[in-house]
Amino acid sequence: MNNNYLSGVSVAGATALLTVMLAAPAQAAVSDSDIANDAKTTGDVVTWGMGLQGQRYSPLKKINTENVKNMVPAWVFSYGGEKQRGQEAQPVVHDGRMFVTASYSRLYAIDAKTGEELWQYDHRLPDGILPCCDVVNRGAALYGDLVIFGTLDAQLVALNQDTGKVVWKEKIDDFKAGYSFTAAPIIVKGMVVTGVSGGEFGIVGRVEARDAKTGKMVWVRPTVEGHMGTKDGKENGVTGKVNATWPGDMWKTGGAAPWLGGAYDADTNLIFYGTGNPAPWNAHTRPGDNLYSTSTVAINPDTGKIVWHYQYTPNDGWDYDGVNELVSFDSGGKKLAGHADRNGFFYVLDRTNGKLVNAFPFVKQIDWAKGIDLKTGRPMETGVRAGDPTKSADGKKGETIFVAPSFLGGKNWMPMAYSPDTNLFYVPANEWGMDLWNEPVTYKKGAAYLGAGFTIKPLNEDYIGALRAIDPNSGKIVWEYKNNAPLWGGVMTTGGGLVFTGTPEGYLKAFDAKTGKELWKFQTGSGVVGCPITWEMDGEQYVAVPSGWGGAVPLWGGDVAKKVKYLNQGGSLWVFKLPAS
Ligand code: CA
Ligand code: CA
Repeated sequence: MNNNYLSGVSVAGATALLTVMLAAPAQAAVSDSDIANDAKTTGDVVTWGMGLQGQRYSPLKKINTENVKNMVPAWVFSYGGEKQRGQEAQPVVHDGRMFVTASYSRLYAIDAKTGEELWQYDHRLPDGILPCCDVVNRGAALYGDLVIFGTLDAQLVALNQDTGKVVWKEKIDDFKAGYSFTAAPIIVKGMVVTGVSGGEFGIVGRVEARDAKTGKMVWVRPTVEGHMGTKDGKENGVTGKVNATWPGDMWKTGGAAPWLGGAYDADTNLIFYGTGNPAPWNAHTRPGDNLYSTSTVAINPDTGKIVWHYQYTPNDGWDYDGVNELVSFDSGGKKLAGHADRNGFFYVLDRTNGKLVNAFPFVKQIDWAKGIDLKTGRPMETGVRAGDPTKSADGKKGETIFVAPSFLGGKNWMPMAYSPDTNLFYVPANEWGMDLWNEPVTYKKGAAYLGAGFTIKPLNEDYIGALRAIDPNSGKIVWEYKNNAPLWGGVMTTGGGLVFTGTPEGYLKAFDAKTGKELWKFQTGSGVVGCPITWEMDGEQYVAVPSGWGGAVPLWGGDVAKKVKYLNQGGSLWVFKLPAS
């Protein structure tokens, strides 16, 4: 641009230009410091996790234990169309606009004050996509003037926040091989960081970082040992050591998909991603620990290398995955992190080095291990593993076992919250088990690669879900709220002493963070399996949550799916506030 671009423009002309600019102010761009400070700034929510550490805690207290009972809807937005199914997203909100993703790879920009749609992006999905567990999407990332999200056909799409026009689009991988994408990306140091889905199809898991402005790849870090990483297009070292914990060629289709969103801890400069099951599910085909499956991997964003890892379920034979979030928190002067695993144990790690600090059950029945050895960090297995089909009479089906938790987990993807006020984690847990057996299986591109069969069953007549307040130091359950259907929505806690979460029965509920007393509920018309957020706008506090029943439970839940078959689908976004005083 010419330095003298205003020379020759009359005063009247300059005034006219200024008037135009005031009439249509450019929306503020989302900066690196907006992202770094997200957890503390109450006027926006610009990251997955309501802050990159993923605590899902807002200091806002205008809505609190005293007045939450008065909370009413401000507006509701319908996703429209015939496409419903699971609405698992966490919305983001910035400068008066909300961005929320929906099932079937859709994204909406909405006026946060009025609920009016600004624009809608419907990703054109090809035939033959292979999402394992419903057509969900968990959210978008904001950076500069871009809103970035991933799609079921394994693409990453960056849209202009003002117009919804595509600015860049990158193919993550071949959807025909089973790759897909459902997580919310995170932004770290100007890079958009993502994983991949597809562990049920024998894909190879990896975490990737791209320049958020352009989509250009910066580094790739595979999460299965033996695979080469890259940085700036050059080789950047193999992950682990070939065949150290995998037999033969099994690592070449080893799964370990980091399919859920990650976190970033600036204190240690580490990105945390959880990884899924080793493939196939039949563990007899792959003796060994099968690194780095069912683990948290801590990656240095500057080098693209794994700094430490902690494996929750070595040689996973139950599809326990290990993808659940690792949430940073500080206690007793220590930099710690909490993780509630599908396998039923809650882990406290030293987040500087991945060493185990504490581990305890957070569900009532765990059959596969009697505890975690705090010295070695390894589970003390009971031997409850499905039998080897090659040892059966006809070679077709191994011995069936019953084991709890089921593979849908003591806790699944739905993120927990941590309150620095109460020093408690709020964990959306489920009590269920499964019949499980193994079958022979060989890898075939684009085909399910399980080698297992299963039926999920409830453990109790009266409840499956249990929101539990957990003390990470003592391992004590301080309070619990039991829910008939399995809990499948995210949790949020606030400075107002509240805990929010949704139920498949359609309610968004608010609880007292200290006592667990239910203080407020609202029926949204369909199951709530999304993630609530809260922010402040024009002096008022707002709470938003998507509504729309779906996800893995209706598809894979066996006897539990039958039990909750009456639940209706939907697709809307609800926003609440206190009535005008
Ligand atoms: Ca914020
Ligand atoms: Ca899995």
